Amino acid sequence: MLNIKYELATTKKPKPDENNLGFGIYYTDHMFVIDHTEGIGWHDARIVPYAPLMLDPAAMVLHYAMESFEGMKAYRLPDGSIQLFRPEKNAERMINTNKRMCLPSLPVEDFVQAVKALVETEKDWVPHQDGTSLYIRPFIIATEPHLGVRTSKTHQFLIICSPVGAYYSTGINPVKIFVEDEYTRACPGGTGFTKCGGNYAASLVSQVKAHDLGYEQTLWLDGVEHKYVEEVGSMNCFFKIDDVIYTAPCVGTVLPGVTRMSCIELLKKWGYTVSEDRLPIAKVMEAAKAGKLEEVFGTGTAAVISPVGELRYEDQVAFINNGEIGPVTHKLYETLTGIQWGKMPDDMGWTVKVC
Ligand SMILES: *Cc1c(COP(=O)(O)O)cnc(C)c1O
Repeated sequence: MLNIKYELATTKKPKPDENNLGFGIYYTDHMFVIDHTEGIGWHDARIVPYAPLMLDPAAMVLHYAMESFEGMKAYRLPDGSIQLFRPEKNAERMINTNKRMCLPSLPVEDFVQAVKALVETEKDWVPHQDGTSLYIRPFIIATEPHLGVRTSKTHQFLIICSPVGAYYSTGINPVKIFVEDEYTRACPGGTGFTKCGGNYAASLVSQVKAHDLGYEQTLWLDGVEHKYVEEVGSMNCFFKIDDVIYTAPCVGTVLPGVTRMSCIELLKKWGYTVSEDRLPIAKVMEAAKAGKLEEVFGTGTAAVISPVGELRYEDQVAFINNGEIGPVTHKLYETLTGIQWGKMPDDMGWTVKVC
């Protein structure tokens, strides 16, 4: 149990227009901060006014990307109350990330306590409009000023919040995806399963390339053979072929998404066959030619479910379901968003009340 000190803001920012929130543009009035010092552990948990950080220019995070982060949301229910979706899964995943990155972690209970405390402080910032939510960004940075490459003796864990609209400005319209066959996101033994900033810095070159070619996102292939599908941008990816729903196995190169896990649990409950065997991109393109690539969709906290309407791999282009959202994609979207925004009963026990 953390002993959180409150230093509340004396002036509050005006709230942005809920119809025009975008993603990650506005930040709330406060942030959560806790320090970690080698030999002492975690100390000085506090909720303070949102403000720029004071960092030594030699702070290790700035030089060697010694940081990690999480992404989750708080949802406003029809009765005005606020809830989280499986926050302990984010806490557990951050612990796994931090082990790989030699960063210290908060215990699951403390992580969830900190998220709840900040969201409750910022409860007026959780928007009311359909499809909007409060995006929560926990992260940890190595703060020790030191230019030698080694683990840091001091760290800071913070949580900031941003009210967000629907992730895709175009709504739930299918996205066009470019299959990356040149650059690699993750390799066995690497950091693909972690939310560490370096993974995203290294992915931008492909995002820029995809945009230049008229595509919205990149579909990554495995880093060894460039043969098997792994994931899309910052989403896990599902393919429905001939009544089997495939998604890449989480064996170290794929980010273990909370949305992915929840989709698999729902699909199995509904009686679908879910395969976590490796799926060759060649099989996806062949299925498309044979008219058997029934649905493709990405999953992630930001977008929830994002249908894919077009896939380009080398000189082949696959169009999926006439550019429309498929029935399984739609059912998953309705169910997950229904549970998250409290419009459907939570039979799975996934939600956690804040206030
Ligand atoms: C965050 C993320 C996901 C989705 O994870 P969720 O827990 O569902 O939000 C998928 N892939 C990558 C690379 C990610 O960073």
